[in-house]
Amino acid sequence: MGRKPFIAGNWKMNKNIGEAVSLVEELRAKLDGVEYAEVAVAPSFTALAAVRKTLDGSHIALAAQNMYYQDQGAFTGEVSAQQLIDIGCKYVIIGHSERRNIFGESNEMTNQKVRTALERGLLPILCVGESLGQRKRNLTFMVIDDQLRDALVKAPHEDAEKIVIAYEPVWAIGTGETATPEQAQEVHKHIRERLESKFGKEAAAAIRIQYGGSVKASNAKELLAMPDIDGCLVGGASLKADEFAAIIEGAKIKEVKGES
Ligand code: PEP
Repeated sequence: MGRKPFIAGNWKMNKNIGEAVSLVEELRAKLDGVEYAEVAVAPSFTALAAVRKTLDGSHIALAAQNMYYQDQGAFTGEVSAQQLIDIGCKYVIIGHSERRNIFGESNEMTNQKVRTALERGLLPILCVGESLGQRKRNLTFMVIDDQLRDALVKAPHEDAEKIVIAYEPVWAIGTGETATPEQAQEVHKHIRERLESKFGKEAAAAIRIQYGGSVKASNAKELLAMPDIDGCLVGGASLKADEFAAIIEGAKIKEVKGES
């Protein structure tokens, strides 16, 4: 299959510049030389430049937590894809549930962001996931289908393999409650089938699907052992170097299984 495991840390609105640099220095000491997984960190916008500098010569990639889909202009408080590329970002998280639920980001807006990111050369990590109420009402697949379909409207087929999907059940984000490996695998498999309908078998087999939602060192390995879980998007546990490094180590299971 050849999907390299991809673990990304979403630092959310945490850490000032000094703290961000210290965390990256600690991560470099632990992770430089790791080849079995791709790793990215997503600091706040304010720390991107300093973290970029601290990452010089490292394989750890820089990601942003959000972007706007216009290139420039009167969009107070927003940051464009071009500005993120200029500062050294490779990835951008799009449609995180906190963006959707706190800031009212719609499926249509995630679509404009995904398309602009791809057009400008930034790799999108597109988040999808159902709420607890939706899961209880058996609406999980329907919600995921809507989010995926709408976010990927007119996404160019030739760019499909550049997209990363993060399945993040909202009820598991920051709650300490994690989807079981079987629950997550069921949704990941479903997402891959949807991607296959949209982009074809080959592209769908190459697209990485991360799981996110209270991933910790203690549960990463069993999640990553699942065939359609290709990595993790990690919030709280990515703020501590030891814990984040231990999660990344969980991706070695893919080597053992011959999946990476
Ligand atoms: C996230 O915010 O993407 C996330 C998964 O958070 P946490 O790991 O803290 O649940």
